[in-house]
Amino acid sequence: MPVRVRFAPSPTGWLHVGGARTAYFNWLFARQHEGALVLRIEDTDVARSSAESEDGVLDDLRWLGLGWDEGPDLGGPCGPYRQSERLSLYRDRAAHLVGQGAAYPCFCTDAELEERRRAALAAGRPPHYDGRCRGLSAAECHARRAEGRPESVRFIVPAQGQRLDDLVRGEVAFPAGMVGDFVLLRSNGLPTYNFACVVDDAGMRISHVIRAEEHLSNTARQLMLYQALGEPAPHFAHVPLILNADRTKMSKRTGEAAVAVGDWRRAGFVPEALLSYLALLGFHPGDDREILTREDLLACFSLDRVGKSGSVFDPDKLRWVNAHYLHHAGRERLATWGAPFLPDPARSLAPAALGALLEGVRGNLTTLADLPGELAPFLSETLAWEPDAEAALAAGRAVEVCAALAAALADLAPWSGEQVKSALQSVGRALGVKGRDLFQPVRAAWTGRTHGPELPLVAELLGRDRCLARLRAVALRNGGAR
Ligand code: GLU
Repeated sequence: MPVRVRFAPSPTGWLHVGGARTAYFNWLFARQHEGALVLRIEDTDVARSSAESEDGVLDDLRWLGLGWDEGPDLGGPCGPYRQSERLSLYRDRAAHLVGQGAAYPCFCTDAELEERRRAALAAGRPPHYDGRCRGLSAAECHARRAEGRPESVRFIVPAQGQRLDDLVRGEVAFPAGMVGDFVLLRSNGLPTYNFACVVDDAGMRISHVIRAEEHLSNTARQLMLYQALGEPAPHFAHVPLILNADRTKMSKRTGEAAVAVGDWRRAGFVPEALLSYLALLGFHPGDDREILTREDLLACFSLDRVGKSGSVFDPDKLRWVNAHYLHHAGRERLATWGAPFLPDPARSLAPAALGALLEGVRGNLTTLADLPGELAPFLSETLAWEPDAEAALAAGRAVEVCAALAAALADLAPWSGEQVKSALQSVGRALGVKGRDLFQPVRAAWTGRTHGPELPLVAELLGRDRCLARLRAVALRNGGAR
């Protein structure tokens, strides 16, 4: 049986980091087994679904590089891939179940259901549907229709429990009596999630359902539906939740840990870092690797190495992974990632000059959002000194160092990092200044800060004119006052 998996977002908001991880696991599984990844849009909650949300989810998936093989935009043999375009299918299948005696029309109103639910709870009984419409005759149904009552379709829950052999959780037993007869088709003609999901997973010939653990209780209902529909059930793998630091489910923005993929994207995180981090929140490679590329994961991912318990989302760890990717990326990749974050003056640079600048500063980046700040010293003619840099320039023999270096560099030929380095060392020897006392004033003079790329690289990126002007400015500003 060919591997066919699906990612089935509800377009009611943004792509959640948990959703991204589910999509990634499905993507990896499909690629590893040369199978197909189906993208299905579960938009039957009309009030909460929107086209903008669908576009946003698809855009985030593309940004993550998680392509699919069939979907609403691509089409495919099992389409349409939006549930709102498959309504007649659900109605046919519901009618079929009614015809077989596996489901029945229900005419109870919401108010009646609510009242009986409360009464059951008050009496200490499970608040299940009481089966009132289960045995209605054709004439009774007719009478209720004539009354203008709402008509839904309810499934007859079989008496026996269910058993699931989950690929992550192992054997899971769902005892009988856990659920009452549940609705398949609402009175407005729209299917419930469980029903649409089964009709579609069966119709789309899905072989493996890899989804969040929160759906485990739905799986019990879905297994019953496969049996009633006479369809083979797919394999299931329920992956554990992603948790906040307090181990509650990560569903809202708490502190720094944003839940939307788009928030991380806008904050300057790169897709590779987010994917590596998310995959390892749940998947255990069996060794101590802390960063796994897509290729690594394609080689070692397996569902039986996905843990059973939830993992806490740690923004600091994600930042560390992101920095690693930025520090090690090639020039082209850095340029592509960095493009949306470039400050205006950088946009007009020739690609080679920009590439050199990005490579020069990347060691100081944690996120791409650091780019404007790190690039600033190299893009403007004037420089603002940060307080640390001011202090470095006011200390000891800083002014002397700057003045001597300006003199030594004035006629340096050719202008290269190596040449600048040896000129700086000569100045140090001549003045009897070394180490921090030598480098910090120069760094402060050139960049206005006390961290950044190596000085020879800074000299190359700035060029002779700016290097000299900035050293002289220090002498004027600090030395003039002495
Ligand atoms: N639309 C459901 C969700 O977004 C999908 C659940 C499933 O994968 O079956 O949670």
